[in-house]
Amino acid sequence: MRSLIRRLFAGTPPPVSDTDWSATVDRLPWVRALDAAAQVKLRGLGARFLHRKTITPVGGLTLDDRARLALATLCCLPLLEFGEEGLHGWSQLIVYPDAFRVNRSHLDAAGVLHEWDDELIGESWDSGPMVLSWADVQSDIDEPDAGFCVAVHEMAHKIDALDGVLDGTPPLPRDWQRAWAADFQRSFDAFVARVDAGETMPIDPYAAEAPEEFFAVCSEYHFSAPALLREFLPDVAAHLARFYGPSPFATRA
Ligand SMILES: [Zn+2]
Repeated sequence: MRSLIRRLFAGTPPPVSDTDWSATVDRLPWVRALDAAAQVKLRGLGARFLHRKTITPVGGLTLDDRARLALATLCCLPLLEFGEEGLHGWSQLIVYPDAFRVNRSHLDAAGVLHEWDDELIGESWDSGPMVLSWADVQSDIDEPDAGFCVAVHEMAHKIDALDGVLDGTPPLPRDWQRAWAADFQRSFDAFVARVDAGETMPIDPYAAEAPEEFFAVCSEYHFSAPALLREFLPDVAAHLARFYGPSPFATRA
């Protein structure tokens, strides 16, 4: 019984105080633009995130409680419709002060080892930590409608990976999944063809890297520049509006 009580107790996150929450709403333009019901939902999700995840600042960075709540809330923005299940499978958010370098290696078919450095602003490991650059989170907040939101991007990868395959299709009911996969594939192929042809795209050409990057990049536009996404990729925009709920900036021109 004791263990049961402890487990029940452990399952309840400490509530977020009214003052901390209103500071967070003020701080995050996307949250400020949500309706009251969505804000209440997001507040609960943010508390869950803080309860379930360890946020670890590295590289000399320090994060106070409100900065942690802001990060948790931002990461939960893509879970407003999907819900808390979107937090499964990983436990740590690592935050660098700025863009960070990672060493990559790849053994090619001829047995030659290639090594290089990548500079990243965010990263999601398979069932491992999520990594964010605090400076880039800040610049997303400073320019909320520029089409970028690294926290949303990395969370899209986390949700995508929940069904065991990182392929640009999150877990969905079967019929919707079929329609999603067909619409995304067609839109991705057309996007890649235009990027390859050297066209200047209104959406970050990084989306052409792979289907999972296409999904993650389009997710950023859903929250940050939904009108542009609707105009340029209407089928993708419609799926994302259903999956994430209406964009907080949906009514902006
Ligand atoms: Zn990515």
